Amino acid sequence: MQRLAKLPLRDNLRGISPYGAPQIDVPVLLNVNENTHGVPAPVVEAITEAVTHAATTLNRYPDREFTELRTALADYLGHGLTAENIWAANGSNEVLQQILQAFGGPGRTALGFPPTYSMYPLLASGTDTEYVKGVRDADFELSAASAARQVRELGPSVVFLCSPNNPTGTKLGLDVVEAVYEAGEASQTIVIVDEAYHEFAHEGTPSALTLLPGRERLIVSRTMSKAFALAGARLGYLAAAPEITDALRLVRLPYHLSAITQATALAALSHRELLMADVEDIKVQRDRIVTELQEMGLKPASSDSNYVFFGGMEDPAAIWQGLLDAGVLIRDVGIPGHLRVTAGTEAETTAFLTRLRELLGH
Ligand SMILES: *Cc1c(COP(=O)(O)O)cnc(C)c1O
Repeated sequence: MQRLAKLPLRDNLRGISPYGAPQIDVPVLLNVNENTHGVPAPVVEAITEAVTHAATTLNRYPDREFTELRTALADYLGHGLTAENIWAANGSNEVLQQILQAFGGPGRTALGFPPTYSMYPLLASGTDTEYVKGVRDADFELSAASAARQVRELGPSVVFLCSPNNPTGTKLGLDVVEAVYEAGEASQTIVIVDEAYHEFAHEGTPSALTLLPGRERLIVSRTMSKAFALAGARLGYLAAAPEITDALRLVRLPYHLSAITQATALAALSHRELLMADVEDIKVQRDRIVTELQEMGLKPASSDSNYVFFGGMEDPAAIWQGLLDAGVLIRDVGIPGHLRVTAGTEAETTAFLTRLRELLGH
């Protein structure tokens, strides 16, 4: 950071740090909420075949409108959505950045409710949008009344609601989304519900997709990085009113989704039963972690995601280091007294729980 000071960097980028979850090479990686179950062999085969075909067309620019992919994503989401309602980019981070490029920017404000996804403030800086930290209730909860009051008082251009929330794993009631949307009427606030982990929610958890009809300022963002085990492919998407996608066409780079990316995502979507079976297994491991942490006397938050946020330790730094010494990497998300662990395969989860029990002296 020292040498950066020599350059004529934009003021709003001075002194901030890049996104940087540690990438350490250890046997059990449970730190960045990736899908630990890998890409199933038949899906690898389908992707390989699709990419091989796409390679024969690489002398041409790809379909700028990625129509086939938008149609497949709409079909996957259901809720009566069509290709017109869908937009995609290289990871949902790029989708969120495009939203800020279109609806944020200099003189405009984005509101988030920490602790929440650490990329929101960074995406705001990158687009010169002022990021305002909203306030949560006790135990990191966010009530409809409190969220709506904060939106009414600030009148932000954009609000980020993350459900299930990262890093806490807890879902947000749809009453909060409805109240925030209504409260943003006067300021014409764009409301983003980041549902990156929705597929891991407990059976029957409603999605904000159900609220889209009649709400043209509401955006539901999703990703193939987690449930679809495609973090390395970079494909995120959103569902919203068609006019939202019109706005994003103004800021996207030409041909931003490569033919390789489109082919990969389409192949994975057509094999989603296999991928969703792994999601079910991950949910079992997630619930197992919550139960066993409670048995150890720790305080795990309720989780509708593929990770568990927990407190109740005297010395979280020592626990984190002790796990790493045993080859298990989890995440210190910078919240005093807490750590976060991604649900692994059954063997990885066992390695984590066994070592943790030893460290706690049980
Ligand atoms: C992982 C994650 C994403 C997904 O990011 P991609 O760019 O799609 O890989 C989005 N939002 C949250 C809250 C996440 O944790």
